[in-house]
Amino acid sequence: MPPDGPAKPNLDGMTTTHRARANTWFGALLAFVVFSACAVGIYYLSADARREIDALATANADSTQWALAQSEVELLALLSETLRSDLPEEQQIENVRRRFDVFYSRVKTMQESAVLAGLRQDDDARANLSDVSDRLDTIVPIIDGPDAALIAALPEITSQFDAMRPAVRDVSLIGVGYFSRVADAQRTRVADALLRLGLLTTLLVAALSVTALALVKSFRNATRDGLEKAEAQKRMALIVSTSLDAIIAVNLKGQVIEFNEAAEKIFGYARDEIIGQNMAEKIVPDKLHAAHETGMKRYIRTRERRVLGQGRVQLEAKHKSGRIFPVELSISSAEGPDGEIFVSYLRDISNRVVKEEELVKARDKAVAGEKAKADLVAVMSHEMRTPLNGIVGALELLKTTELNKTQANMTDVMGTSAEMLLHHVNAVLDMSRLEAGAAETIKRPFDPATVAQELLSSLKMSAQNRGNKLKLNVLDPDFNLVLGDPGKFRQILTNLVSNAIKFTSHGTINVEIEPHFAEEQWELRVSDDGIGISEEDQARVFDDFVTLDTSYTRAQEGSGLGLAIVRRLVKHLGGEIGVESETGAGSVFWVRLPTNVASETSRPQHQERLSPRIARIDQTRPKLSILLVEDNAINRVVAREMLARLGHSCIEAYNGAEAVKLAEIKPFDAILMDISMPDMDGVEATTLIKAGTGPNAQTPIFAVTAHAMPADVDRFRAAGMVDVLVKPIGLERLEDLLSLREQLDTLHDDAGPYWDKTHQRDLREVIGEEKWRELMKLFVEEMDAACETIFARGHRSDMESLRPDVHKLAGSASTLGASRLGVLLRRIEEQLDVNDHHAARELIGLVPECWTNTCSDEMRGQDAD
Ligand code: ADP
Repeated sequence: MPPDGPAKPNLDGMTTTHRARANTWFGALLAFVVFSACAVGIYYLSADARREIDALATANADSTQWALAQSEVELLALLSETLRSDLPEEQQIENVRRRFDVFYSRVKTMQESAVLAGLRQDDDARANLSDVSDRLDTIVPIIDGPDAALIAALPEITSQFDAMRPAVRDVSLIGVGYFSRVADAQRTRVADALLRLGLLTTLLVAALSVTALALVKSFRNATRDGLEKAEAQKRMALIVSTSLDAIIAVNLKGQVIEFNEAAEKIFGYARDEIIGQNMAEKIVPDKLHAAHETGMKRYIRTRERRVLGQGRVQLEAKHKSGRIFPVELSISSAEGPDGEIFVSYLRDISNRVVKEEELVKARDKAVAGEKAKADLVAVMSHEMRTPLNGIVGALELLKTTELNKTQANMTDVMGTSAEMLLHHVNAVLDMSRLEAGAAETIKRPFDPATVAQELLSSLKMSAQNRGNKLKLNVLDPDFNLVLGDPGKFRQILTNLVSNAIKFTSHGTINVEIEPHFAEEQWELRVSDDGIGISEEDQARVFDDFVTLDTSYTRAQEGSGLGLAIVRRLVKHLGGEIGVESETGAGSVFWVRLPTNVASETSRPQHQERLSPRIARIDQTRPKLSILLVEDNAINRVVAREMLARLGHSCIEAYNGAEAVKLAEIKPFDAILMDISMPDMDGVEATTLIKAGTGPNAQTPIFAVTAHAMPADVDRFRAAGMVDVLVKPIGLERLEDLLSLREQLDTLHDDAGPYWDKTHQRDLREVIGEEKWRELMKLFVEEMDAACETIFARGHRSDMESLRPDVHKLAGSASTLGASRLGVLLRRIEEQLDVNDHHAARELIGLVPECWTNTCSDEMRGQDAD
């Protein structure tokens, strides 16, 4: 069961899967990018927010504000120390100095601190600070000077310090305003960062939610798909297991991967036993192994399909027991999880095959039965004709005697009935001959117009009896030759014109003949102005046993077979027939026949043109001496003329008894024997000639008869006749029958060399020279003896008795390499097998010469050696 090409039932499915997979990957990638971007964004935004918060948290604005406020406090503390009177002077001075340093460093810090750089941007703040600083700088020498000077200057510097207070207050207030603005801006930034972070987080949460939703959906889908798949698998498993057909799946290595219950039943293997095994070894018959392997390899190599996907094929399969049985099989391929697999569906059709054989036998039997019936009908019709002819003849004679009126009437009725019966019998006989294909195909040159004219003349009386006129019209006067069967043409025309006469009264019947040269056809039309045929009846008038108007037809003696025979005759001649008609107006029956005349060469009036063929026959064929047995004088003349044209001589016998007598006296090369003859018919004469001891016991006898049903032919053969010549005798057929000599002549041309030297050399090597000589000596002795006895000219022993000797010598000749002699002897054997003693005798005549030549050729060969 070689797989031969993939059927791709799920090609679309596979594309969808790929697309789905690609979509999933794309989705995952997109989600990853989105999540990564969100994560990075969140990371940076949270870092930013943290920074801002940290900045807010670590903001020294409060301490700076505190430092600014403190500067005012410290100035007040310095001022109060300068104004103290409760302390000793040294103590006061020291306190003033300490307080001054604190205030001084505070002012310097405010001037230089980076934290207050923003504050210093303010012009008022900067001016106030520098004013205070300048004042302090003027006081520094006093502070750092001697105690006494300081004490002395205390009132002065106290007023200085007091004057600084508005400036210090201003700076402090500006600072508060400035720092509150800075804090506001910082809070706004934190809020922004947090907002951005919040937004991004919301986005991330949204994305996560969407992803989660998608995941849930996909999970649900996957679950549903999984369930559906499981369901489908369950269903598939059920289908596979309950299938009445064996289902076997194999992988590309040819191993069985599925084997259902039906397969178990059909092949006798249990599933577990065969899974994984090589399918071909188990179920493919040994004789198909090679083909299977080749098919498998070819498919893998070229993907070329032969059986695969080609529908059902009929093959043989092997059961576990080794029994071979017929199966119907179809294979398809599919994509399995592990690659391509082949699935075979097989059905054991042993019963069907047996039934088919029975049917064929029954049909053959039925056909044989039908044929036997048809033969019986034909034989019966044939047999009935002779007594009927006797009755008709006797009645004609009876009419010539003196009869009273009643007797004369009765004789007329009997005559009419007998003729009607004869007509029917002839019709049935014609039918069965045409049906059985036994009708002879004759091609003779003839002039249709002449045949038609003769026929119309003979039917003139019957036409006149019904008040009808007959007319013939040949549309092309030059058309006077066709090649065909004039007898059958006459039969067709007789039927059509007789019908026209029958179904027309006081009318005109026209027969027209028209050639259609372009189509190499000619047309015959028989028209009448009689009762006509309705349209629906026109289709069936050519069927068997169809008579339309029973009352009319009965009055007109119809059997309903006339047109059926005409249809068969026309078909037999390779033509067509049809009818056109109108009820009450008349009918036209037309027949188209092939002219079969491609050129002028076969015109009968140019007899010389036929002669080259005959001349050729005369030159190449030896003259035969023929005994012509025929009781009909016209037939005798025709046959004699034809034989003469073929270059043969003939002696005539007028009946069977005379033929037997002549055959006892003179040897003939062939006998042409008429069958129906008075006194002794052809069959009886043949039997006597064959059984006798005369010189013609082995002469081929040909039956010459007008009727050659298969049963007749068998009867002729049983009597010893070799073939049948159906009347009227045709030149060609006669030539074929008598062409035995030609066959013999060809033997000389193509029989090959006298000795097969290669074979001879091999044989000598195998059996050795001594044995070879011994055998050759024996063979030469046997052949010499045979040539003097059984192959001698004029030897007339019983041909049957020659068979063993001829067989033995033919075998020896072939074995020893005498090839041409071997061929000749084998041909004699063949002719003896088919009882063609005439041919055998002719061939035997060639043996002595062939043997002499064989011997001289061998001598020449030895001389050469
Ligand atoms: P039959 O032997 O009865 O004439 P045919 O087969 O020759 O049988 O004809 C069949 C039937 O066709 C006839 O019975 C007749 O009814 C009809 N038929 C044949 N020829 C003609 C015709 N020329 N005109 C009218 N009817 C015809």
